[in-house]
Amino acid sequence: SLILAIETSCDETSVAVVKDGCEVLSSVIASQIETHKAFGGVVPEVASRKHVEVITLSIEEAVQQAGVDLQDLSAVAVTQGPGLVGALLVGVVAAKSLAFALDKPLIGTHHIAGHIYANRIVGPLEYPCMALVVSGGHTELVHLEEEGRFQLIGRTRDDAVGEAYDKVARALGFPYPGGPHVDKLALGAEETVDLPRSWLAPDSYDFSFSGLKSAVLNAVNQHKMKGQEVPVAAIAKGFQDSVTEVLVEKAVRAVKEYSSKQLLLCGGVAANQGLRQRLTSRCEEEGIPLTIPPHVYCTDNAAMIGAAAHLKWKHGLTSELDLKADPQLKLEEW
Ligand code: ATP
Ligand code: MG
Ligand code: FE
Repeated sequence: SLILAIETSCDETSVAVVKDGCEVLSSVIASQIETHKAFGGVVPEVASRKHVEVITLSIEEAVQQAGVDLQDLSAVAVTQGPGLVGALLVGVVAAKSLAFALDKPLIGTHHIAGHIYANRIVGPLEYPCMALVVSGGHTELVHLEEEGRFQLIGRTRDDAVGEAYDKVARALGFPYPGGPHVDKLALGAEETVDLPRSWLAPDSYDFSFSGLKSAVLNAVNQHKMKGQEVPVAAIAKGFQDSVTEVLVEKAVRAVKEYSSKQLLLCGGVAANQGLRQRLTSRCEEEGIPLTIPPHVYCTDNAAMIGAAAHLKWKHGLTSELDLKADPQLKLEEW
């Protein structure tokens, strides 16, 4: 199959052409990061307007780079939700128009199903498997009994891990998105600050990062009040160690309990070097097969939407042309 996929759920306008759900023929990603930086985060109204400005050109570019004929497409896929409603709308309208004009099936796709199935670009998946989803808005453990069957076994009770990274980065004086800055600081740190780990109940697969975030803010403020220089690298390392230890240990425990054949890491924070390293060595120790998508397919991109949509296409799960953007879309309705 040949699927053209569109992703506009947040601040990346992305279009990709994907063959058989795993071979990326083209992937165009127009990031709005520079636009939103001035505001310290994503401004929804601005995001929608930017998507409108570049969506048509991005589609043309993706088709041209892939070297395909629009008539040869099997379907047009698009992120239906979750995300910013005004941003989603731009992609949904573009996908509907294209599907209608070409008389091709439309496939509405769940953004997190996309993040998870980005791992198909690495290689075929074996079921049952476990996904550790770590992104700007989600922190979840998802058990996949079989293709397209998602069971949420744990989730964050407060901040998503990417959100915590961005807030900590801001407190340490770094611009949006802060995750990569904290990652770099932590890796280069010579000292560390001891920060709490939030395990919750012993059998819980849920997460909580707000206590840790407060501990970081306290540490920063105490140094400032005493007129001392804030040890940003040591704090970043303390924070990253706490986050990655909890994520890794819970994921490993889930893999064992659910007899998962493999662990899939995904979402924007999967680009984190500290997390990739700790998870890789822990999975080696435990003999757990681990896949992590290349960086470009961890943060928001349309190729991952094409990878997920291919499975829906295979199972005949296409959408009607009255498809609506749904900011609250549930993973079960991928
Ligand atoms: P969601 O997928 O939950 O809707 P989103 O699409 O906004 O949220 P992604 O694009 O998947 O999120 O990920 C963006 C997040 O990833 C940001 O919070 C960013 O700081 C974080 N991030 C990116 N690179 C790194 C890194 N190296 N270390 C830590 N965090 C990172
Ligand atoms: Mg983004
Ligand atoms: Fe995302």
